[in-house]
Amino acid sequence: MVKTKIEASVNRIFNRVFICMKCNAKIRADILKVRDKKVKCRKCKSNALRQKKKERKA
Ligand SMILES: [Zn+2]
Repeated sequence: MVKTKIEASVNRIFNRVFICMKCNAKIRADILKVRDKKVKCRKCKSNALRQKKKERKA
């Protein structure tokens, strides 16, 4: 089950990249800050962000 560990660490990296749902700007931020809505889009100042990569459901 080594592969699972690698995927988990890769997910952690990609989890830090978010996309603004209004203007599609890429924003790198801590997931905890995004959850607390402390992160705003630089362009439109919206805090409606989504993760770049969707988590796969097995
Ligand atoms: Zn935006």
